[in-house]
Amino acid sequence: MSFKDLKLIKPLLKAIESSGYSEPTLVQQKAIPPILDHKDVIVSAQTGTGKTAAFALPILQQLFDKQDAPKRGKKIRALIISPTRELAVQIQQNFKTYAQFSNLRSLVVFGGTSIEPQIDALNKGIDILVATPGRLLDLHKQDYINLDYIETLVLDEADLMLAMGFIDDIKKIERLCPENKQTLLFSATIPYKIEQLAHTILKDPERIDVTPTKSVAKDVSQVLYYVPKRNKIELCLHLLRNTIKGNVLIFRRTKFGVNKLEQTLTNNGYKVDSIHGDKAQSERQTALNKFKNGYVKILIATDVAARGIDINELDNVFNFDMPNQAETYVHRIGRTGRAGNIGRAYAMCSADEKSYVKTIEQYINVQIPIETEHPYPLDPKAKPIVHKKKGSKYKKGRKSVASKKKKKRWY
Ligand code: AMP
Repeated sequence: MSFKDLKLIKPLLKAIESSGYSEPTLVQQKAIPPILDHKDVIVSAQTGTGKTAAFALPILQQLFDKQDAPKRGKKIRALIISPTRELAVQIQQNFKTYAQFSNLRSLVVFGGTSIEPQIDALNKGIDILVATPGRLLDLHKQDYINLDYIETLVLDEADLMLAMGFIDDIKKIERLCPENKQTLLFSATIPYKIEQLAHTILKDPERIDVTPTKSVAKDVSQVLYYVPKRNKIELCLHLLRNTIKGNVLIFRRTKFGVNKLEQTLTNNGYKVDSIHGDKAQSERQTALNKFKNGYVKILIATDVAARGIDINELDNVFNFDMPNQAETYVHRIGRTGRAGNIGRAYAMCSADEKSYVKTIEQYINVQIPIETEHPYPLDPKAKPIVHKKKGSKYKKGRKSVASKKKKKRWY
């Protein structure tokens, strides 16, 4: 199938050609026709499948006839909600590329940065808005955004939005848009809660499934190291020195872990950067650019901060902490080994993480090869160290409002 077969208009075909795409990916083949037919869709697809173009191209096509409205008369007609700032930026870059031979204008707004430039840009008039939920609602509340003319609403990475606690915001945003809009829901996985959400906000949706999420890319070679928790840093340094070639994206579960590892690696003379939810947007973007440009070869990230980010040439993924969800493991390692390159996925497992490995192996239906030849082997009989909680059991559930408010994001 070619892009022409998808009945895309010339200015889009030209932009596709200049992007160097020769044929549509599977998700594009399946999703573009129903979206052009104004149908609601629920698409299960991960990053790397070409899903952004799968919604951006038909949205641009549908808006093409309305592009010549004088700038200030422009109304926001397409709204794309993304859970993270990086992803939002990436989506808008896609829109910009595909709209290069049209007069359609897009804008991205997100929290963590000054609101004034975003207000100025909104006032200039745009057709397509990409936004994170919090900043969007903020701008709407202050009357800088009118959602009355939305024709298409896209919820991208919906499962992550749920995991990050955005469900009420999403429902609110959906209600602020006109009832007869088209809604497109994209999600890496479709758990029950996403089904429920889809049931409440989509109208007779077409289902498109392109990623058997369980399948691990064949061109990723995996290896597992059993290691005592206290030796993980040493083993990590040992592997960086002797085994790992090229750039590496290291995953940790918490931002605290990310910071700690960044400090240690820096102290050991490595050029490292990191991304997590507590960093300012500009810092996150700089870190990502430095990694993409090859200025730093090591990027440490939490799952949430790194989700959806497209890094073209990634040689290695390193699971410093085993993820506690099998799907997360698949997402993490699926980032390497793209476009015919062989990627490598390293994982370190301490005694308390053994059950995660079991779950992952059942999920992917593969036994991850174990490397025993290393300086810090784990005693197979080692039991996890359990830290007993201190303090009175009566304290549970009696947190003050103030202390609850102080609760910080872990991602
Ligand atoms: P996404 O899944 O949207 O993050 O896209 C992953 C990558 O695939 C991006 O770098 C896109 O530029 C690229 N891409 C999208 N569509 C195609 C296509 N039809 N052929 C080749 N690459 C594509």
